[in-house]
Amino acid sequence: MPKPTTVRDYIRTIPDFPHEGILFRDVTTLFADPRGFRMAIDQMLHPYAGLNIDKVVGLEARGFILGGAIAHQLSVGFVPIRKKGKLPGKTLSQDYKLEYGEATVEIHDDVISEGESILLVDDLLATGGTAEAGIKLVEKLGGNILSCAFIVDLPDLGGRKRLEGMGMDVHALCT
Ligand code: 5GP
Repeated sequence: MPKPTTVRDYIRTIPDFPHEGILFRDVTTLFADPRGFRMAIDQMLHPYAGLNIDKVVGLEARGFILGGAIAHQLSVGFVPIRKKGKLPGKTLSQDYKLEYGEATVEIHDDVISEGESILLVDDLLATGGTAEAGIKLVEKLGGNILSCAFIVDLPDLGGRKRLEGMGMDVHALCT
Protein backbone atom coordinates (compact mmCIF):
# COMPACT_ATOMS: atom_id res chain seq x y z
CA MET A 1 0.00 0.00 0.00
CA PRO A 2 1.41 3.45 -0.89
CA LYS A 3 1.91 5.86 2.05
CA PRO A 4 -1.13 8.15 2.57
CA THR A 5 -0.38 11.77 1.68
CA THR A 6 -3.80 13.44 1.51
CA VAL A 7 -6.81 13.44 3.85
CA ARG A 8 -8.66 11.36 1.31
CA ASP A 9 -5.95 8.66 1.41
CA TYR A 10 -6.67 8.04 5.12
CA ILE A 11 -10.41 7.40 4.60
CA ARG A 12 -11.45 3.78 4.25
CA THR A 13 -14.51 2.58 2.32
CA ILE A 14 -16.54 -0.25 3.85
CA PRO A 15 -19.05 -1.93 1.52
CA ASP A 16 -22.54 -2.93 2.71
CA PHE A 17 -22.52 -0.84 5.92
CA PRO A 18 -24.92 -0.13 7.58
CA HIS A 19 -27.08 -1.74 4.85
CA GLU A 20 -26.43 -3.85 1.78
CA GLY A 21 -25.51 -1.69 -1.21
CA ILE A 22 -24.16 1.25 0.84
CA LEU A 23 -20.50 2.24 0.52
CA PHE A 24 -19.67 3.70 3.96
CA ARG A 25 -16.84 6.24 4.05
CA ASP A 26 -15.09 5.41 7.31
CA VAL A 27 -13.18 8.38 8.78
CA THR A 28 -12.07 6.54 11.95
CA THR A 29 -8.90 5.51 10.09
CA LEU A 30 -8.21 9.23 9.48
CA PHE A 31 -8.91 10.07 13.15
CA ALA A 32 -6.61 7.26 14.35
CA ASP A 33 -3.58 8.50 12.45
CA PRO A 34 -1.64 11.37 14.08
CA ARG A 35 -0.66 12.97 10.77
CA GLY A 36 -4.04 12.35 9.17
CA PHE A 37 -6.02 13.82 12.07
CA ARG A 38 -3.82 16.93 12.34
CA MET A 39 -3.96 17.44 8.57
CA ALA A 40 -7.77 17.21 8.60
CA ILE A 41 -8.17 19.73 11.47
CA ASP A 42 -5.63 22.15 9.94
CA GLN A 43 -7.31 21.97 6.53
CA MET A 44 -10.81 22.36 7.97
CA LEU A 45 -9.65 25.53 9.78
CA HIS A 46 -7.83 27.00 6.79
CA PRO A 47 -10.79 28.87 5.15
CA TYR A 48 -11.62 30.61 8.44
CA ALA A 49 -8.25 32.16 9.31
CA GLY A 50 -8.80 35.71 10.53
CA LEU A 51 -12.60 35.38 10.64
CA ASN A 52 -14.63 35.90 13.77
CA ILE A 53 -16.16 32.65 15.05
CA ASP A 54 -17.94 32.68 18.41
CA LYS A 55 -18.80 28.98 18.72
CA VAL A 56 -18.38 25.65 16.97
CA VAL A 57 -21.48 23.44 16.74
CA GLY A 58 -20.84 19.73 16.10
CA LEU A 59 -23.31 17.11 14.88
CA GLU A 60 -23.42 13.73 16.65
CA ALA A 61 -21.21 11.81 16.66
CA ARG A 62 -18.15 12.35 14.47
CA GLY A 63 -18.88 16.08 14.40
CA PHE A 64 -18.02 16.05 18.13
CA ILE A 65 -14.51 14.73 17.48
CA LEU A 66 -13.81 17.26 14.73
CA GLY A 67 -15.72 20.13 16.31
CA GLY A 68 -14.01 19.70 19.68
CA ALA A 69 -10.54 19.86 18.11
CA ILE A 70 -11.51 22.85 15.95
CA ALA A 71 -13.06 24.74 18.89
CA HIS A 72 -9.93 24.13 20.98
CA GLN A 73 -7.76 25.43 18.15
CA LEU A 74 -9.92 28.58 17.84
CA SER A 75 -10.19 29.00 21.65
CA VAL A 76 -13.98 29.15 21.43
CA GLY A 77 -16.77 27.08 22.97
CA PHE A 78 -18.19 23.85 21.56
CA VAL A 79 -21.91 23.03 21.37
CA PRO A 80 -23.21 19.51 20.63
CA ILE A 81 -26.31 18.76 18.57
CA ARG A 82 -27.48 15.34 19.69
CA LYS A 83 -30.01 12.73 18.75
CA LYS A 84 -33.33 12.99 20.62
CA GLY A 85 -33.31 12.24 24.34
CA LYS A 86 -29.56 12.52 25.01
CA LEU A 87 -29.20 16.11 26.24
CA PRO A 88 -30.07 16.60 29.93
CA GLY A 89 -31.21 20.24 29.93
CA LYS A 90 -34.07 22.09 28.25
CA THR A 91 -33.83 21.58 24.48
CA LEU A 92 -35.14 22.69 21.12
CA SER A 93 -35.92 19.87 18.67
CA GLN A 94 -35.87 19.57 14.91
CA ASP A 95 -37.27 16.66 12.89
CA TYR A 96 -35.71 15.67 9.57
CA LYS A 97 -36.16 12.99 6.93
CA LEU A 98 -33.91 9.95 6.60
CA GLU A 99 -33.79 7.53 3.67
CA TYR A 100 -36.31 5.42 5.59
CA GLY A 101 -38.37 7.35 8.13
CA GLU A 102 -37.60 10.36 10.29
CA ALA A 103 -35.15 11.39 12.98
CA THR A 104 -34.95 14.20 15.53
CA VAL A 105 -31.96 16.20 16.72
CA GLU A 106 -31.79 18.51 19.73
CA ILE A 107 -29.76 21.41 21.11
CA HIS A 108 -29.77 22.95 24.59
CA ASP A 109 -31.88 26.11 24.38
CA ASP A 110 -29.42 28.36 26.27
CA VAL A 111 -26.09 27.68 24.54
CA ILE A 112 -26.13 30.23 21.71
CA SER A 113 -26.82 33.94 22.04
CA GLU A 114 -28.55 36.15 19.49
CA GLY A 115 -26.15 37.17 16.71
CA GLU A 116 -23.31 34.76 17.55
CA SER A 117 -21.22 33.61 14.61
CA ILE A 118 -21.32 29.82 14.32
CA LEU A 119 -19.23 27.23 12.49
CA LEU A 120 -21.22 24.01 11.95
CA VAL A 121 -19.10 20.85 11.72
CA ASP A 122 -19.72 17.25 10.67
CA ASP A 123 -17.65 14.52 9.06
CA LEU A 124 -19.70 13.94 5.92
CA LEU A 125 -22.31 15.71 3.79
CA ALA A 126 -24.67 13.36 1.93
CA THR A 127 -28.29 14.55 1.35
CA GLY A 128 -27.76 17.48 3.70
CA GLY A 129 -30.77 16.56 5.85
CA THR A 130 -28.76 16.31 9.08
CA ALA A 131 -26.88 19.56 8.47
CA GLU A 132 -30.10 21.37 7.53
CA ALA A 133 -31.70 20.27 10.81
CA GLY A 134 -28.63 21.55 12.68
CA ILE A 135 -28.74 24.87 10.84
CA LYS A 136 -32.42 25.30 11.72
CA LEU A 137 -31.71 24.68 15.42
CA VAL A 138 -28.87 27.23 15.48
CA GLU A 139 -31.00 29.78 13.64
CA LYS A 140 -33.96 29.24 16.01
CA LEU A 141 -31.61 30.30 18.83
CA GLY A 142 -30.61 33.44 16.93
CA GLY A 143 -27.16 32.23 15.80
CA ASN A 144 -25.72 33.13 12.39
CA ILE A 145 -24.11 30.24 10.54
CA LEU A 146 -20.85 31.60 9.17
CA SER A 147 -20.07 28.33 7.37
CA CYS A 148 -20.55 24.56 7.35
CA ALA A 149 -17.37 22.43 7.35
CA PHE A 150 -17.10 18.74 6.42
CA ILE A 151 -14.35 16.30 5.61
CA VAL A 152 -16.28 14.54 2.83
CA ASP A 153 -18.90 15.84 0.39
CA LEU A 154 -20.83 13.23 -1.61
CA PRO A 155 -21.97 15.57 -4.42
CA ASP A 156 -24.28 13.04 -6.12
CA LEU A 157 -26.52 13.10 -3.03
CA GLY A 158 -27.15 16.84 -3.36
CA GLY A 159 -26.27 18.08 0.12
CA ARG A 160 -24.01 20.91 -1.00
CA LYS A 161 -26.65 22.23 -3.43
CA ARG A 162 -29.29 21.98 -0.73
CA LEU A 163 -27.23 23.94 1.81
CA GLU A 164 -26.03 26.49 -0.74
CA GLY A 165 -29.68 26.92 -1.74
CA MET A 166 -30.30 27.99 1.87
CA GLY A 167 -27.58 30.62 1.47
CA MET A 168 -24.94 28.61 3.33
CA ASP A 169 -21.19 28.71 2.76
CA VAL A 170 -20.00 25.08 2.49
CA HIS A 171 -16.45 23.71 2.73
CA ALA A 172 -15.36 20.08 2.36
CA LEU A 173 -11.86 18.63 2.17
CA CYS A 174 -12.67 15.99 -0.45
CA THR A 175 -15.44 14.55 -2.59
P1 5GP B 1 -27.13 13.38 5.34
O1 5GP B 1 -28.04 13.86 6.43
O2 5GP B 1 -26.33 14.51 4.72
O3 5GP B 1 -27.83 12.55 4.30
O4 5GP B 1 -26.09 12.37 5.98
C1 5GP B 1 -24.98 12.85 6.68
C2 5GP B 1 -24.97 12.30 8.08
O5 5GP B 1 -24.95 10.88 8.07
C3 5GP B 1 -23.71 12.74 8.80
O6 5GP B 1 -24.02 13.00 10.18
C4 5GP B 1 -22.76 11.58 8.64
O7 5GP B 1 -21.98 11.38 9.80
C5 5GP B 1 -23.66 10.38 8.39
N1 5GP B 1 -23.22 9.56 7.23
C6 5GP B 1 -23.97 9.17 6.18
N2 5GP B 1 -23.25 8.41 5.32
C7 5GP B 1 -22.01 8.34 5.84
C8 5GP B 1 -20.78 7.69 5.40
O8 5GP B 1 -20.66 7.03 4.34
N3 5GP B 1 -19.71 7.84 6.19
C9 5GP B 1 -19.75 8.58 7.34
N4 5GP B 1 -18.63 8.67 8.05
N5 5GP B 1 -20.88 9.17 7.78
C10 5GP B 1 -22.00 9.05 7.05
